[in-house]
Amino acid sequence: MDSYKNILDGYRKFRGQYLTQENSAWRNWAKGGQSPKVMIIACSDSRVNPVIITHSGLGDLFVVNNVANLVPPYKQCGNTHHSTSAAIEFAVTQLEVEHIIVMGHSGCGGIRALMAEHDDTEPHPDDHYSFIRPWMKIVDEAAEFTPDEKATMEPDALASVCERRASLISLNNLMGFPWVHEAMIEKKLQVHAWHFDIGTGILQEYNADSEQFEELV
Ligand SMILES: [Zn+2]
Repeated sequence: MDSYKNILDGYRKFRGQYLTQENSAWRNWAKGGQSPKVMIIACSDSRVNPVIITHSGLGDLFVVNNVANLVPPYKQCGNTHHSTSAAIEFAVTQLEVEHIIVMGHSGCGGIRALMAEHDDTEPHPDDHYSFIRPWMKIVDEAAEFTPDEKATMEPDALASVCERRASLISLNNLMGFPWVHEAMIEKKLQVHAWHFDIGTGILQEYNADSEQFEELV
């Protein structure tokens, strides 16, 4: 149960930092609402918190966390729950964010689950993946490799490619939302695909000209 005590200790430190000291920014947020200019769609993974990675503060980033930082295709359908789509809609049409970043990462468990689905040599995951499996289908083609690639590349290298491909599929889906598309044409919005390496702390951004992920400096 120490994990719960640890977060309460952290909360006390937070209160000491934000509430007992003079902090006009905090009070202004309470009155005027939020106005972040950047949205980040990141994995739920505990090691890839975008606020910490970008050294941001409260009020700076509008964040969606989901398994494997996916963006589903644009669909108007009343029968399903579109959590991520609703957040994107709010960010673009209400907050009018200037940037949306899809941030993938190394060692992603969602991507590993997808790759296991595509691996005929391993028994398929059991029903514990009853929600993860259909969710990861959004980026199914990211895990398609030729027999030659499977034979010659290490599993980590395949996963690394799959993570980046999945972020690009999500980026493409993102641009399929009509208001995202319109804001981009009006040059009010830019979209980005990032990849964060947990071991080195290095961030890469996809360069559409070179068609490569390149290290951010
Ligand atoms: Zn992940």
